Amino acid sequence: MRFKPALEERRKAGLYRSRKVIQSPQAVEVDLDGRKLLNFCSNDYLGLANHPEVVAAFQEGAARYGVGSGSAHLVCGHSDAHHELEEALAKFTGRDRALLFSTGYMANMGVISALVGRNGEVFEDRLNHASLIDGGLLSRAKFSRYRHADMAQLEALLQKSDREEKLLVTDGVFSMDGDIAPLPEMVSLCEQFGAQLLVDDAHGFGVLGEQGGGCASHFNLTQKKLPMLVGTLGKSFGTFGAFVAGSEELIEYLIQQSRSYIYTTALPPAVAEATLTSLKILQADDWRRERLKKLIGRFRLGARRLGIELMASETPIQPILVGDSAKASAMSERLLKRGIWVGAIRPPTVPKGAARLRVTLSAEHSDDQLDRLLDGLAGAMHG
Ligand SMILES: *Cc1c(COP(=O)(O)O)cnc(C)c1O
Repeated sequence: MRFKPALEERRKAGLYRSRKVIQSPQAVEVDLDGRKLLNFCSNDYLGLANHPEVVAAFQEGAARYGVGSGSAHLVCGHSDAHHELEEALAKFTGRDRALLFSTGYMANMGVISALVGRNGEVFEDRLNHASLIDGGLLSRAKFSRYRHADMAQLEALLQKSDREEKLLVTDGVFSMDGDIAPLPEMVSLCEQFGAQLLVDDAHGFGVLGEQGGGCASHFNLTQKKLPMLVGTLGKSFGTFGAFVAGSEELIEYLIQQSRSYIYTTALPPAVAEATLTSLKILQADDWRRERLKKLIGRFRLGARRLGIELMASETPIQPILVGDSAKASAMSERLLKRGIWVGAIRPPTVPKGAARLRVTLSAEHSDDQLDRLLDGLAGAMHG
């Protein structure tokens, strides 16, 4: 492997990625090299990552359980903190049971590859999250992708499939576009063609539905209609980790079969304790969802007034399509100079020619901060 030319090539294409080192907690304002930046790129939609009660629960958890879990769940790493969180997540999602995974990426790899094998077929939206795509590839099933949200194409693919085992996999809220998958249509197609449906609601939980119950709640789809849900804890929950929720049999099957569940160290129990507290706040604080709704409306109205074209999103993910990668990076840099942090998302995270500024909103943003973003965008658009 010749690293240097490969890196040069990336740089020339405006696709080079690098990290900024922040010196403060995750919040709507972060410290970067002596400057305060207004943060519009976090997935901490509800502002729970640094909530004092969540922090206190984490500290108490560490005092009680120490830090490391010591082993995988099936060896000796499954504590009552994990167990209690699984029960709380089952109740929250209205599913029989929930199973904790160490990350969302691992949950998706482990669930998809446990559900289908070489003889099956996986159907995926082209814009699905990388972890869902990778899970599909890992399963070695036939891999069929359809154009974003194109139910006619999905139907055609399902119709012509000759595989007994069919699994349809989708983001609930698309992570880079912010739109919601047409789940009721997907449920009917799955019933019609005898396919299973797996929904990854990483960006829906906490934000959509009653008490933040996510897409399933938003569309009123019970376990019978929507039997397999993935959620991640690093976004609206403000902590870390992930879970799968579903039937008793599904969860028992995953415990036996899911390699990324079996062969990895359990989350620190203190993370589970912190998440129990964040789950309570997430459910109880309807004002956070109300606040987000208000901010989303204010942002969309303000952006339209500036002639900025928005995508069809009613969630806190409000991308601005730029197209060219170098141009998106330059806009992000110009915003940064004004003290506003909005990530430029470029291929391969998004399709070629679809680079964008991915604006994300938090319930903790003030109207004034949002207006500063709009001012900044107006400036960044025109150099
Ligand atoms: C962030 C994300 C994941 C990965 O979750 P992690 O816990 O960060 O590994 C999976 N799916 C979707 C849709 C995501 O946005």
